[in-house]
Amino acid sequence: MATYQPNDPALRSWVPVPAAHDFPIQNLPLGIFTKAGKDPRPGVRIGDHILDLAELGLLEGDSLNGLMERGPAAWSELRLRVSWLLNEENPELRDRPRGLVSVKDAEMHMPARVGDYVDFYSSLEHATNVGRMFRDPANPLLPNWRWLPIGYHGKSGTVTVSGASVRRPKGQLSRDNQTAVFAPCRRLDIELETGFFIGANRVFGMVLLNDWSARDVQRWEYQPLGPFLSKSFLTSISPWVVTMEALEPFRVPGPPQDPKPLDHLRVPEPRNYDIHLEVWLKPAGAPRATSICSTNFRHMYWSMEQQLKHLTSNGAPVRSGDLCGSGTVSGAGPGSFGSLLELAWNGTQPLMLETGEERSFLEDGDTVTMRGWCEGAGYRVGFGEVVGTVVPA
Ligand code: CA
Repeated sequence: MATYQPNDPALRSWVPVPAAHDFPIQNLPLGIFTKAGKDPRPGVRIGDHILDLAELGLLEGDSLNGLMERGPAAWSELRLRVSWLLNEENPELRDRPRGLVSVKDAEMHMPARVGDYVDFYSSLEHATNVGRMFRDPANPLLPNWRWLPIGYHGKSGTVTVSGASVRRPKGQLSRDNQTAVFAPCRRLDIELETGFFIGANRVFGMVLLNDWSARDVQRWEYQPLGPFLSKSFLTSISPWVVTMEALEPFRVPGPPQDPKPLDHLRVPEPRNYDIHLEVWLKPAGAPRATSICSTNFRHMYWSMEQQLKHLTSNGAPVRSGDLCGSGTVSGAGPGSFGSLLELAWNGTQPLMLETGEERSFLEDGDTVTMRGWCEGAGYRVGFGEVVGTVVPA
């Protein structure tokens, strides 16, 4: 076992995993699920099944907070144990399977109790697009942006696992920036993000994150303290936490940083991860969804380690289970923008969907699905999806 490598592309599981599936034996993401009549419990996803860690005596509890707190040695030990149990060469479970649940028979829950939730703003392309639209087209970035990862504390109580309905929020809207009315949001938007969970003061693992946003509410309320109710009604995350060990083969250098980060924000390269990201939009009753965005997490200017270093640089402690959002992930081209605000350029260039309908912002009944994966040699390490459907105010 000394030379056993859970990331080895050649490993195969006795649990069937279709080609190009998000969850082969090289991934082994962790989540919390229930099956008929049982309490919430931790599991590991493999193909279209879940290995019940509680039934096998490997991990207890209704959240991953305890595991996150135990630190990297415990995380590695569990990953190694689960990988070997699922390995086709190991007869232990292969010949007498137990603790295996079909995903069809399971309901997913929040993987952790989120203590604090922070959302960053770390895509240069996204910040530039927004600055062009709302500030100064010739000078879209504020001077502080390249010196520190801009962020704000969000609302942990409304971070919800994928599948929850997105109730169109009400809020104050202003046409003239002088007076306001209280009404249903008319500019409901998405933000394509990733999130990372903190464990033992480091990055434990990643999920997909949709930071649902009420743009018209945001525009009126955000000055001078930043977003508040325009973001706090709902944040959706994918249910499976992909560990940093599983993502290790997909590390890539980040974009050059100028000015050079101050000492306390310096991290070794490669600091980023090569994660393909996609967004799909499906109107109510449409036969299929339209792809509206394809981009990659590797373009992010500030890395997760830098965000975490910044978050704690004033002496503030973090707790296991705290969640950080990357900020909207936008690439360089129009089809790679991570929000409708940018894709339809503030309503001036509506998107054409495959149904012939146009969209500048979300309509009631729209379903948004975000997907993400790393492409390995003959296998994928994927995140599954985070999905939500808009329902009327
Ligand atoms: Ca955001």
